[in-house]
Amino acid sequence: MDAKQWKEKLLREPKNGYDRLGAEEREAMTAYCEDYKAFLDVGKTERECVTEGIRLAEARGFRPYKRGMELKSGDKVYVNNRGKMLLLAVIGRKGLAEGVQIAAAHIDSPRLDLKPNPLYEDSELAYLKTHYYGGIRKYQWVAIPLELRGVVALADGSTVRVAIGEGDEPKLVISDLLPHLGAEQNKKTLAEGITGEQLNLLIGSEPMEGEEKDRVKLAVMKLLYEKYGFTEEDFISAELEAVPAANATDIGLDRSMIGAYGHDDRVCGYAALRAMLDLEEAPERTAVCILADKEEIGSTGVTGMKTRAFDTFIEDLCEDQGVAARACIERSFCLSTDVTAAFDPSFPEVFEKRNGARLNYGIGLCKYTGSRGKGGASDASAEVVARARRLLDRDGVIWQMAELGKVDAGGGGTVAAFMADRNIDTLDAGVPVLAMHAPFEVVAKLDCYMTYKAIKAVYKD
Ligand code: MN
Ligand code: MN
Repeated sequence: MDAKQWKEKLLREPKNGYDRLGAEEREAMTAYCEDYKAFLDVGKTERECVTEGIRLAEARGFRPYKRGMELKSGDKVYVNNRGKMLLLAVIGRKGLAEGVQIAAAHIDSPRLDLKPNPLYEDSELAYLKTHYYGGIRKYQWVAIPLELRGVVALADGSTVRVAIGEGDEPKLVISDLLPHLGAEQNKKTLAEGITGEQLNLLIGSEPMEGEEKDRVKLAVMKLLYEKYGFTEEDFISAELEAVPAANATDIGLDRSMIGAYGHDDRVCGYAALRAMLDLEEAPERTAVCILADKEEIGSTGVTGMKTRAFDTFIEDLCEDQGVAARACIERSFCLSTDVTAAFDPSFPEVFEKRNGARLNYGIGLCKYTGSRGKGGASDASAEVVARARRLLDRDGVIWQMAELGKVDAGGGGTVAAFMADRNIDTLDAGVPVLAMHAPFEVVAKLDCYMTYKAIKAVYKD
């Protein structure tokens, strides 16, 4: 063999995904991404993602799971966990003793939640106080149009859906200082320039006629009451989330990328859901899709990935077949699909080029996440990574390895560790993102589509 042949045989040379993508696949990719953008526009909160997920699933024959219901191969069921977490399964041809094939993603995204007592007036302007959710860079959330979405649970037991700023409706905003008076603010670090208590949403300025104190606040409350039927006290039992008002849009003259709020992690959540909806026949082993809430604040709570709701779902399915859940779990495989950081040529100092993910190189496999020496990572075993390689290559998935930034630069985590804790072989993988956690994040269409293909490969394994 000459050097060229040796090189081909021995060395690994990652290729841009476009050099490997067929014309037919390109079309499928574009169509898939149109559907994904539509999903993003209706799903700007975890609740909305669950509602839309159920709508799409029911249209493809999924039914709500009821404990004890008889299931056969090919049956499609889902569990709606409190409107904020969705679990779906397609029963496989093999029994549950053979384990299940899982894709787990999260559908909560960083945002600004309203405080329990949010509404106030200052200097004849009405505001809503917020408490940010997840890791945000606060300076990015000022001076952009925002919407308010969520629910208000009334004392009578009913729930009102709120969507302020949808479509042509008026938006909300958090003001920033003008440069003319920003000299002192400019001296602060990015982390300190805007503080959490400055993230106040401007919601009105016209006073109600009369002599009352706080007339602007009163006028705003009246508008809310007339439209949604709730009073100031009802904010106490509300979950209202300020999210960017912009919808998903193509980025680049070549339309090769998508800019949107909430790619983390709806880009993987949609892929996991869609791959499940697109299973044409009963998979070999039962396929399970998890769209979890609360990842951005540690996967805690009844709807986060640490919840027993997942274990209960598996136990229920196993009970139906007379299989011990622990026997099913230990033979299961999970692709924990969450976004990773894409190499950004404008900030090369925090990335390690040889191991970072790049746009258009396909789904990024993360053997480990964590920070400060893999801290908090599940660190998939060599065998598990090999299994994924084999599987993805078999199904023609374009993939790459991914590490989130330079070793000492920082790090991150995801739900992978909580799946691995359950004795499930788990590998973290996902779409590389530019400007992750910003109000407007960017992904490459090719990577979105390859993540869908990868998850489909896992379900069908
Ligand atoms: Mn994530
Ligand atoms: Mn995140």
